[in-house]
Amino acid sequence: MRSKIVAGNWKMNKTYQETKAFIKELKKSIKDLELENTRVFISPTFVNLQKASKKTKDTKIEVAAQNMHQAENGAFTGEISAKMLKSIYVDTVILGHSERREYFGETNELLAQKVDTALKNNLEIIFCFGEVLGDRKSGNHFKVVEEQIKKALFHLNSDDWKNIILAYEPVWAIGTGETASPEQAQEMHAFIRELVAERYISDIAEEVSILYGGSVKPANAKEIFSKEDVDGGLIGGAALNAQDFTALIKAI
Ligand code: PEP
Repeated sequence: MRSKIVAGNWKMNKTYQETKAFIKELKKSIKDLELENTRVFISPTFVNLQKASKKTKDTKIEVAAQNMHQAENGAFTGEISAKMLKSIYVDTVILGHSERREYFGETNELLAQKVDTALKNNLEIIFCFGEVLGDRKSGNHFKVVEEQIKKALFHLNSDDWKNIILAYEPVWAIGTGETASPEQAQEMHAFIRELVAERYISDIAEEVSILYGGSVKPANAKEIFSKEDVDGGLIGGAALNAQDFTALIKAI
């Protein structure tokens, strides 16, 4: 059975002290929740990952990194490798976020390399993709999403898919307050599942968790999460407040 997932993408937010305070509050607020088949992730910035990893050990909270470099190691000043993440007990990495694509020039081809390096190092991947507003308006959104997935992921073996979580994030809905309607999310998620089933087998398509991301908040989460092919959310803004984040976990 595929997992339900609520994952917070903290981006460049929260200091060391704020990270510790958030974890303390979240641990308390989800302590009594039954999270059967449900996974909860937070993704602090690199400098706070180790602390977060320690503070969440033996809890229901998992820690993901927001990025990593495609090389194993070497002369890449300022960068972080897959091995470094593993060495501090971080087992999941977010790749392909639209902000990485837009501000840091990450292409589908580069992401395919990062995906390979992550998997080689036994990291699980939350892989993000999604169309910009122009693509949606011109009716190109399915084509764009198909290309993003095919170019970065369809060279993988069936086995690799055990470590892939997909996150559909229409760029026009990220941080804008504008959410895709539950029907728009469902339509795209069903399309993605079908794509995976065509390339691999339907078992893989059925097992992969597909998250929706884009202005999900306590007020709209239940409706979006209730859609058949929506297995949870990748959350930006609303993941920064422990009470809101708890409400999203409850919504799933
Ligand atoms: C995100 O950046 O992954 C995201 C979904 O942000 P927000 O929830 O703030 O739209």
